[in-house]
Amino acid sequence: MAKDKKLMQSDICNGCGICVSVCPQNTKLSKADDFDSNTAKLAIYVTKGAAVIDSAVCIACGICTRNCPVASLTIVLA
Ligand code: SF4
Ligand code: SF4
Repeated sequence: MAKDKKLMQSDICNGCGICVSVCPQNTKLSKADDFDSNTAKLAIYVTKGAAVIDSAVCIACGICTRNCPVASLTIVLA
C-alpha cells in the first residue's frame, strides 16, 4: 500500500508513543506468536525520547500522522 509515499518525522516529536500504539503494522506484528517487544522491527517506535520510522516496515498509511498530538509526522511523496 502507498509505496509511492513515505512517512517523514520532524524534530518536534516529544516521544509520547501514541504513533507506536495506533500503527496497524505494529499491531499486526505484535500478534505474532514469537513477538518480542525488545527485538521486534516495528514500523515506528520510540527511542531516546523520539519516534523512529523503519521505512522497510511502514506502509505509509498515514494513521499515525492523524494521531500525533504535535503534528510531527507527515506523509510525503517518495
Ligand atoms: S504511516 Fe501507517 S504504517 Fe507507517 S508508522 Fe504510521 S501508522 Fe504505521
Ligand atoms: S511522532 Fe507524535 S505521536 Fe509519535 S511519539 Fe512523537 S509526538 Fe508522539
